[in-house]
Amino acid sequence: KRNNTPKTLIESFRYPRYGIGEISLRMGARIEAENRIFRRARVRTLLHDGSRIMAVLWEDEKGEIRCHEATHYLSSIPITEVVRGLDPPAPPEILAAAERLRFRSLVVVALFFDCPQVTETSWIYFPDPQIGFGRIHEPNNWSRDLVPEGRSCLVFEYFCTAGDEVWSLDDAALVERTLADLSRLDLHPRLPERVIDRCVVRLRNAYPIYEIGFKEPLGRIMRYIRNFSNLTLMGRYGTYKYINMDHSIEMGMKAAENLLGRRHDLLGVDADPAYLEGPPLDSAA
Ligand SMILES: Cc1cc2nc3c(=O)[nH]c(=O)nc-3n(C[C@H](O)[C@H](O)[C@H](O)COP(=O)(O)OP(=O)(O)OC[C@H]3O[C@@H](n4cnc5c(N)ncnc54)[C@H](O)[C@@H]3O)c2cc1C
Repeated sequence: KRNNTPKTLIESFRYPRYGIGEISLRMGARIEAENRIFRRARVRTLLHDGSRIMAVLWEDEKGEIRCHEATHYLSSIPITEVVRGLDPPAPPEILAAAERLRFRSLVVVALFFDCPQVTETSWIYFPDPQIGFGRIHEPNNWSRDLVPEGRSCLVFEYFCTAGDEVWSLDDAALVERTLADLSRLDLHPRLPERVIDRCVVRLRNAYPIYEIGFKEPLGRIMRYIRNFSNLTLMGRYGTYKYINMDHSIEMGMKAAENLLGRRHDLLGVDADPAYLEGPPLDSAA
């Protein structure tokens, strides 16, 4: 029997009133009560002696290179950047392994409308190859406080590869393409005419790509990184694990606890077989 109810694993979820960034802002405020956070800091080089990281060279907002020494380094930057940033350079086979780990990129186009709501959904996926974007979400359906009174926002996600045709389009062309595809969807009357603003963001590393055979170069890199007794990799991009925010945060907290003497298995944070399963899809629908 055909059932038109969309299949979903959950019926509701809690979401921060002013958006997901509230979580990291709140954590940052706690950290800054006693410590310092350097924002807009880009790690460029990890100086090492073969068994320990000695210092990190990073670029500040003004493009100046600064140096920081620590007893231990917890890194959530992409694992490939860690490998390429080592000085002296990692062995050629490790650098070659890093070339085999790739990330899927994302272009995000946000359009703002002069109507209070466009859809009633959290996400809509578009597997249709004729439609350029792969997913839409409407943040005002997650929290009304994310938009001004009477306004709404749709966020269009283009899954792509850095440097490809979509990635290279300028902002105006991306907005134009989005509007063209949007006008073919019957989401809301005269939607393209109701756009009052737009914004484009490009994310180079959005998803680790689990290509066939990726475990071989990943394992090779992980074994090599273990040579550095004071370097811990963590997070989705740091460990090349397709984990979500909850597990990324858990991994970071456990990494910090390990510094205090605990022995958590960081790579096992997502090992619970019940995770993402919930009730069988048919009974959840
Ligand atoms: C489109 C999209 C939707 C998602 N939706 C959800 C969702 O609904 N629920 C969920 O739980 N998860 C979701 N995720 C996954 C979630 O965003 C990640 O799991 C989480 O952000 C990983 O945390 P992290 O700290 O490992 O990495 P990040 O949050 O990416 O933090 C790593 C940081 O390192 C910085 N960085 C990179 N290179 C350098 C460098 N060289 N020097 C200094 N800093 C550097 C980056 O700028 C970034 O700020 C989504 C991800 C994407 C891409």
